[in-house]
Amino acid sequence: MLTLIRGGRVVDPGNLDGIMDILIEDGKIVEIKAQSSKVKAQRSKVRAQSLPAVSLAGSEVRVIDAFGKIVVPGLIDMHVHLREPGHEYKETIESGCLSAAYGGFTAICPMPNTNPVNDNSQVTEYILKKAGAADMVRVYPVAAISKGLKGKDLCEYGNLKETGAIAVSDDGHPVANSQLMRRALEYAKGFDLPVISHCEDLDLAGCGDMNEGAVATRMGLAGIPNASESIVVMRDIALCELTGARLHIAHVSTTESVRAIRNAKKRGALVTAETAPHYFTLTEDAVEGYNTNAKMNPPLRSMQDREAVLEGLADGTIDVIATDHAPHSSIEKEVEFDRAANGIIGLETSVSLSLKLVQNSVIPLTALIEKMSTNPARILGFNIGLIPGRPADITIIDPDLSYKIDSGRFKSLSRNTPFDGWDMKGKAILTMVGGKILFDEMANPEP
Ligand SMILES: [Zn+2]
Repeated sequence: MLTLIRGGRVVDPGNLDGIMDILIEDGKIVEIKAQSSKVKAQRSKVRAQSLPAVSLAGSEVRVIDAFGKIVVPGLIDMHVHLREPGHEYKETIESGCLSAAYGGFTAICPMPNTNPVNDNSQVTEYILKKAGAADMVRVYPVAAISKGLKGKDLCEYGNLKETGAIAVSDDGHPVANSQLMRRALEYAKGFDLPVISHCEDLDLAGCGDMNEGAVATRMGLAGIPNASESIVVMRDIALCELTGARLHIAHVSTTESVRAIRNAKKRGALVTAETAPHYFTLTEDAVEGYNTNAKMNPPLRSMQDREAVLEGLADGTIDVIATDHAPHSSIEKEVEFDRAANGIIGLETSVSLSLKLVQNSVIPLTALIEKMSTNPARILGFNIGLIPGRPADITIIDPDLSYKIDSGRFKSLSRNTPFDGWDMKGKAILTMVGGKILFDEMANPEP
């Protein structure tokens, strides 16, 4: 069976941008062709909603009408937390994969802070086996930097890479010992694995619950200063330059971090960085009313920090948008603010929130697709892109679809989002992995 994605605006940064048809066979892209102007003229007159299978040179063709839609290489979320093994009531590998597919992602990278920790090849194998059984989006596990995330002994990166780990990180915890971080970078460099750093000075963060400042003071909550993040960002950049290893800074939230990364890149350091939609969408004001769905680590920051993150996205300092999807149940969230768990889910809201960057002219659409697909693929060494011969991992976005976020409809097992009820414009409407359609809102519209 052939699949034809017809008449969409095909955007693959640095490769394609135009109204094109994509032909898929046996899970692979076989042909990408610009539409003739005659066809385009006809299409703009008659907007066929659903096209039946048509015959192309004798073979059966499934046609996906992408008129007015944006067709992009499959989106990659390089920072998610699936809670399996250990906390399957929050999220399983299967539910996380389904949530990713419904959010428009074709690949996700789960962090190792499960129980047991993904610090050995048995756990990596278990994750890959479960992901294989779910048979949905591609799952690329991130293994731990140190055994048990304890910051004392390094894991065996060679074994982990051989089993399928694509990066190492102690995410959730910083590597407090600078010598161990140096050794991790050197060791990872030998296996060409990027080191993803959760930058936090735990002593400075203390028992803080939100951003340090006037809002925290007024609410009577302990604050976390910007420096608790940027001190470790600066240390890790120094170690990155010392070792020549590849460093990726997770969830950048402060002005000082953005500045440090920008300067390091100017010097040629092998540093890349990500931020999450909540850091460029919200500020510490979202915590008002002791909203535990606005509690995360690093915390939501000031308006100036949000502006700095937007500037970092615009000038390329921040390479990647990742969600830091962190499912928690009501048991962890519907409690006093200082006792609530950190983190929010993000897989099913990320595309819509990130499209706002394009709507508000912060970045062009091509830059958005770079940050959600091309750049994570480059950092992690994935061979994706809309190129004949490559697997048909494709996301289709409707830039005009207006809808209200309803967490009750999420495929994730958790509901911890501060964006429930938000009116959005633009949404991922089809997710295809290896030619297989996992989610198609055009075929099965939400009632
Ligand atoms: Zn983290």
